[in-house]
Amino acid sequence: MNYYGNVFRPPSEARSLIIQATIGCSHNDCTFCYMYKDEPFIIRKIDDIIAELETIRDYFPQFERVFIADGDALVLKTTDLLRLLEYINKNFPNVNRISSYATAGDINRKSVEELKQLYDNGLKMLYIGFESGDDEILADIKKGLTTEEYISAMEKCKKVKMQTSITIIAGLGGREKWKQNAINTAKLITKTKPDYVSYLTMRIYKNAPIYEDYISGKFEMPSAEEILYEIRLFLENVDSEGTIFRSNHASNYVLLGGTLNKDISGLIETIDDTLRRKNFRPGMMRSL
Ligand code: SF4
Repeated sequence: MNYYGNVFRPPSEARSLIIQATIGCSHNDCTFCYMYKDEPFIIRKIDDIIAELETIRDYFPQFERVFIADGDALVLKTTDLLRLLEYINKNFPNVNRISSYATAGDINRKSVEELKQLYDNGLKMLYIGFESGDDEILADIKKGLTTEEYISAMEKCKKVKMQTSITIIAGLGGREKWKQNAINTAKLITKTKPDYVSYLTMRIYKNAPIYEDYISGKFEMPSAEEILYEIRLFLENVDSEGTIFRSNHASNYVLLGGTLNKDISGLIETIDDTLRRKNFRPGMMRSL
């Protein structure tokens, strides 16, 4: 397939066929995000995508998973998405799960019936970037969404049994707002009870708008210890029985994995042990 610009996917989609249905992100305004800043947002024609898939289906029919990129593929019209899903189902017989990134805004713009149609045609999981459960921080980073909109989107997904994988970011509130980031994010996860939660750690990139605030001192980056205290505080406050919890992203200072709530004490012990020994993953291993 042809790929355009930067293509990102969740770590768990490493073996998936990546289909780029949009290029970039329709919002593209989040101050911490560097991913698509240099790319104009484009919705690709479904005919063009299918023409490219025609060239690879005979050679690589073995894919079991498909990930529809880029930043918020759910922005596509439902009729176009259904056409794409139908093509995948017909031509890649081994595929048992199709997923994509989605914003809460995209989800809320679709009716429950539309989401159900997508689910019934194979779109089984959405990766949604909450980033934070604190409305003040969401406004600071220009996410363009509120926790109320997250809650509404999650309720819709639950109605159609769509699985949800949520990303949250330790350090997004800087040193000033770390406590409210941890506690209010724990409250939002408790309220929405997603299937998966992945913690990322804040990183500053030169082409992200927040870089200027970082250089001027307006945004203070928490230290490794402070980031771990923030994740610890989140774990002390969250209540989301059965949610799979991970911090396996390259940005993290410690790798954590378990199931909420039963593994919370073990996860906190791992954090405390890392704090005691100060054996944080080095920058090189965190892809910095
Ligand atoms: S964080 Fe997500 S929604 Fe925000 S600009 Fe980046 S890709 Fe778009």
